[in-house]
Amino acid sequence: MNTKDKTLTQIINYDEEYYMPVFGKRVPLVADHGKGVYLYGTDGKQYMDMIGGIAVNVLGHSNPALVKAVSDQAKKVIHCCNYYYNEPQTMLAKKLVEMSFADKVFFANSGAEANEGAIKLARGYWYKKGTPKPKIITAKMSFHGRTMATIAATGQEKFSIPFGPNVPGFVYVPYNDIDAIKKAADKETGAIMLELIQGESGVHPADAAYVKAVKKFCTENKILLIIDEVQTGVGHTGTFFAYEQYGIKPDIVTLAKGLSGGVPVGAVLATKKAAAGFAPGDHGSTFGGNPLACAAGLAVIDQIESKELLKNVTELGAFTKEKLEKLGKKTKKISEVRGKGLLIGIELTSDSSADVKMKLFEKGFLVSAIGANVIRIAPPLIINKTQINKFISALQDVLQGKE
Ligand SMILES: *Cc1c(COP(=O)(O)O)cnc(C)c1O
Repeated sequence: MNTKDKTLTQIINYDEEYYMPVFGKRVPLVADHGKGVYLYGTDGKQYMDMIGGIAVNVLGHSNPALVKAVSDQAKKVIHCCNYYYNEPQTMLAKKLVEMSFADKVFFANSGAEANEGAIKLARGYWYKKGTPKPKIITAKMSFHGRTMATIAATGQEKFSIPFGPNVPGFVYVPYNDIDAIKKAADKETGAIMLELIQGESGVHPADAAYVKAVKKFCTENKILLIIDEVQTGVGHTGTFFAYEQYGIKPDIVTLAKGLSGGVPVGAVLATKKAAAGFAPGDHGSTFGGNPLACAAGLAVIDQIESKELLKNVTELGAFTKEKLEKLGKKTKKISEVRGKGLLIGIELTSDSSADVKMKLFEKGFLVSAIGANVIRIAPPLIINKTQINKFISALQDVLQGKE
């Protein structure tokens, strides 16, 4: 830490004094501004942002088209509430429907809120049919958010136990195990909710055969399939939605993180059939779908399409994976490289992920450490080969103990 930087030490001290300590000891970077894949601290140091705000900054920082869309919209109207119509909301909903399996969209403000919406929609769907089926099967080691229903949906007790009693109705099964789903399902099961890559718990992708089998089981047993694409959506896997790569049609999909490139947003996408779970008055949001967030979402999608960023993700994803696997062979410090596109988990053989994260930070690279031994990267979709090579070379130095 550069103790000469007054802002840095002052902000860290103030944070300790005034902010709830939920994030523990944070990485000592006070973000000042960003440009492209780089984030700059108040101390003037440059960092290559390989985590992109946890898969949020899909266009990198200060993308001119996104900045223009947000500032133009802010000059017109930031918020008007859902008593009224607003054009960006309608047009973003239309765009998402045209791009996906969905017929209808609802906007929220975060991933957890989108998942809350999806859970309510599934329960509302069966209630309205006159055959309530409140049970929802989710996966162990999943992550669906931090609200009361989404910590109950999350198949990791550490997130929910201290905050009980938990919202009832969730059943947890091992991931990638279709028989466990068949065993867990009963007449009360209204939905199955899954991530296609378990991001938070270590970047574990679902097997293609598993996802197909889950879809088939859902169809045969009239169970709604909810796919949580809060992290996998908006391009990081090489397709706009990860489900496209599995050749299935979900009933409900949730989006958030990257959708508006950093402006808070969440979305529930559903087929016409599933969307019947909500009637007027059933759900809502003060901020959800506000003109600012939706103008940002339109700009993000426009940039992804016009700059052919998905092609870049597919190419660079394969390139990065190959480089990392080579690095693993060479250093014997990487046991597995997992993920799709530019959402990658690097499992370390013996090094602590927290140590590697801090050493990379000191070299000017931002990554996330998950669990004891996994480094996660989810860089902006605009990243190039030269930048990836710089990261790989820094990682090599760290793994080989070079200063
Ligand atoms: C991040 C995440 C969430 C929660 O999103 P928030 O915006 O933090 O509420 C939910 N599901 C998945 C898969 C996530 O990665």
